[in-house]
Formats: sequence, C-alpha cells, structure tokens
Amino acid sequence: MKEKILIIEDNSQNVRLLKMALRAKGYTLLEAADGEEALDMAINNKPDLIIMDIQLPKVNGVEVTKKLRQMSDFKQTPIIAVTAYAMKGDEEKIMKAGCDAYLSKPINTRQLPEIVAKMLLQRQKDSIEGNGNE
Ligand code: MN
Repeated sequence: MKEKILIIEDNSQNVRLLKMALRAKGYTLLEAADGEEALDMAINNKPDLIIMDIQLPKVNGVEVTKKLRQMSDFKQTPIIAVTAYAMKGDEEKIMKAGCDAYLSKPINTRQLPEIVAKMLLQRQKDSIEGNGNE
C-alpha cells in the first residue's frame, strides 16, 4: 500500500516542485493551500507524513502543527517543516511545536525524498514495535 503524503503549501510553484520531487516514489500526494484546509485534509485523510510550509494563510504552520499534535491520530505522524524566512529562534519554535525535521527553502529536491523515505520507514518500524501506540 502506498503511503499518503499531505503537502501543505500555499505557493503553487513550490507545490509543483514538491510533487515533482516525490512523484517517482509513487506516493499518494494530497494538497492543502492554507492552514484551515490543512487541518481538514489531515483529519479526513489521515496522511502518513506531512510536509508543512510554515508561512501559510489563515493558520500558520506552527499553529497547525500544535493543533495536530493535540489529536491522538497525529501524535506520531512525521511532520517536515519547510520555511523560507527563518529568523533566529524560529527553528527552535518550529521543532518545539512538534515538527520532526526542518528544511529551509529553496527545497533541495534530491534531499527531500530521502528524508521522507527515511521517516516513513522509521514510522513503520515504530508501529511494528508498538511504539506508535500511546
Ligand atoms: Mn507559504
């Protein structure tokens, strides 16, 4: 079964880039363009991994991450943050909100699929070992 990845990104060019980087792996790719849509999409589709732009309309990526981490379905879901305008302290804030990894833009299209694959594998191992359950 192919993993579902939710791409949360409001810039359509970046969405295209992210999809291109992940297409070869055959994942099911879902998209959301703002924080509210992101929460709806996540709740309705239960993605296996989330790519989270931080600068988003309506609800920013830090807030979306915090909200997701409060829900039992998303306690363990890998979340990769991507951001262009990181200021001092931002990375810490983003990781503290519950993101598992942090990538700065422009997205390295070779590195991203490697990180995604690694995190999905780790997630799979954790759930086999039973660590994925509370
Ligand atoms: Mn953005």
